[in-house]
Amino acid sequence: MSLMPVQDALDAMLSQVSPLAGVEHLGLVAALGRVLAKDIRAEVTVPAFDNSAMDGYALRLVEAEPGKTLPLAGTALAGHAFEGRVPPDHCVRITTGAVLPAGLDTVVMQEQVEQAEPGIRLLHVPKLGDHVRKAGEDIAPGQLLLSRGQRLTAVDLGLLASIGLAEVAVQRRMKAAVFSTGDELIAPGQPLPAGHLYDSNRVVLSAMLKRLDCEVLDLGLLPDKPDSIRQAIQRAAEEADVLITSAGVSVGDADYTRQLLSELGDIGFWKVAMKPGKPFAFGSLGKCWFFGLPGNPVAAVATMDLLVQPVLRRLAGEPIASQQLLEAVAAEPMKKTPGRADFQRGFYQQLNGQLQVKPIGRQSSAVLSGAAKANCYIALEQERDQVAAGEAVRILPFSQMLR
Ligand code: AMP
Ligand code: MG
Repeated sequence: MSLMPVQDALDAMLSQVSPLAGVEHLGLVAALGRVLAKDIRAEVTVPAFDNSAMDGYALRLVEAEPGKTLPLAGTALAGHAFEGRVPPDHCVRITTGAVLPAGLDTVVMQEQVEQAEPGIRLLHVPKLGDHVRKAGEDIAPGQLLLSRGQRLTAVDLGLLASIGLAEVAVQRRMKAAVFSTGDELIAPGQPLPAGHLYDSNRVVLSAMLKRLDCEVLDLGLLPDKPDSIRQAIQRAAEEADVLITSAGVSVGDADYTRQLLSELGDIGFWKVAMKPGKPFAFGSLGKCWFFGLPGNPVAAVATMDLLVQPVLRRLAGEPIASQQLLEAVAAEPMKKTPGRADFQRGFYQQLNGQLQVKPIGRQSSAVLSGAAKANCYIALEQERDQVAAGEAVRILPFSQMLR
């Protein structure tokens, strides 16, 4: 089997999946981080009326002259408009957000007047429309505010509230099943017998799924026994939209996972030209999509992030987006041989006006401690050889899923 370039693996998966059906209506705060199911167009004008952007005095510009005293006709407070006409050569005391009284066009800040019986004296001549927020300057009716497929941020939710919506239609939450297999694995919290290690993959993968707002179905840590693995695969196929497992998908692996997947589903076993990574499985178990990640902890994280995340986002209804790589300078040499795209874990920072990056910790796919200190991948191209200090490299800052 030849190695499949990372982009080819992504393209192959993305061409097969389409957004999951199902919409739910949520209150605004509950919709944080969820994927919008419909375009949102404004049906209202924001602000709905001309109003003051400052505490001060509203007047007619044509009546404003330096040193002139304007008597006060009344007060306009936020939520309490000034009613009626303002007589000629008069002003109105106004607070931020109050309706601009009919016929007036300009606001003078209170710092730019002095009190002079029976009103105020202008210390400064304003310009037409100073400190007035015009009706519709924020949002006009018909304007496209948010697009279907975008993940709702806190600011988006505020925007929805500002046009009077209390609920929003979002894609239903994806259900993602996870299990680990391996007789050598022990659940965290238990004593560790000789020759064993803790099951960290199920924790990191579940946490990454939470970051994407998936509902996680934890099918546990399974022994290397065909019956228990078969049961877990069947349960996921019935109940979940996706199943994500780690380990047991490499060629010639003694585990049962690979064998059972071939039997129960339509799964392809790939060798992806990436480091960390390589063994990877993708396919379907009926209506459930399957992703089989390598067992080594850093490889599991990197394949989940770089290969699975884009597909999950597509299933969730987001548009397909390409990775936003940044240019940086290598602060240290990096080991690399041509043949696989390398995603070294690195730390980047702005130094002397440019981004500098260095690899962090041991670049072994079994070593999580370095990855925990990193803030980016250093994305070294498939055919690239070792990197000397000072060379330009491309980096991929860690996604939301890893933070
Ligand atoms: P495998 O793909 O089964 O050959 O596993 C590759 C390596 O990953 C082995 O050293 C396993 O012990 C380790 N590994 C597999 N599953 C997990 C897990 N859930 N958590 C931590 N390490 C794991
Ligand atoms: Mg194993």
